[in-house]
Amino acid sequence: MDKRIVVPPVRDELSELAQTFNHMLDRLEGGFEQQKRFVSDASHELRTPVTVILGYSDLLSRWGRADEAVLDEGISSIRSEAENMQQLIEKLLFLARADQNRQVLHKENIELSELLEDIMRKMQLVTKNHSVELLQNDDGMMYGDLVTVRQMFRIFLDNSTKYTPQGGRITVKSERVENEDGLFMQVALADNGIGIDKKDQQKVFERFYRVDTSRTKAQGVSGTGLGLSIASWIAQQHDIEIRLESELGKGTTIYLQIPLVS
Ligand code: ADP
Repeated sequence: MDKRIVVPPVRDELSELAQTFNHMLDRLEGGFEQQKRFVSDASHELRTPVTVILGYSDLLSRWGRADEAVLDEGISSIRSEAENMQQLIEKLLFLARADQNRQVLHKENIELSELLEDIMRKMQLVTKNHSVELLQNDDGMMYGDLVTVRQMFRIFLDNSTKYTPQGGRITVKSERVENEDGLFMQVALADNGIGIDKKDQQKVFERFYRVDTSRTKAQGVSGTGLGLSIASWIAQQHDIEIRLESELGKGTTIYLQIPLVS
């Protein structure tokens, strides 16, 4: 049933009111649709690890006692699927809190060059197959929530690592810029990995969207399709502008324009 109110343009105020009402209805309907899709996508994503865990449990109960190789494989597969599920649940909880305005942010002054150095130092310790470089000349203080800002950088950098074949290069450059909108730290996070096709570049920020490439499947790259939507929510909360530039087969660069405290 169409709930829209049709008012002949006799009384301007009434028709304006009806327009506002219709607009609100559209937004509400859009919101419901989005929530429905979110729940159905989340259930779908959770079903896969649960199915694998159940399958391996059956296998273990039948053959696990007799065959040590089956026992080892079963235990490690159950563990890795449970880890995937845990990561997915953490991300879903984050987005649920964000949607309900319950994600708490404790904002303070953050020295960006120190934060980037710390993130990159830790990354260098665990990243064995890529060269990782940080180039920064400028200091700058942003006002933000340290936990989520760190999380945002980690999401972009984890992606750079995941979607860049072994031997690839990940570079982070930062510089202070001043323009008519104010004072910013411009941070560029670049990789020379598989890149993202033009048609997918906007969509990757949508929840659950993953570019379906045989390459990532073959490399066994695991993901949830939620990382970039979390990163863009965090950016939004800090008035950080995100720009993505990418070319298939060449690599991806994420540009962040972060407002600085003057
Ligand atoms: P995921 O958990 O799948 O990595 P994201 O939301 O972080 O989810 O990213 C969405 C999709 O965008 C990824 O599945 C991948 O296809 C693509 N993507 C993100 N970052 C990069 C990158 N640096 N290089 C190539 N593809 C990327």
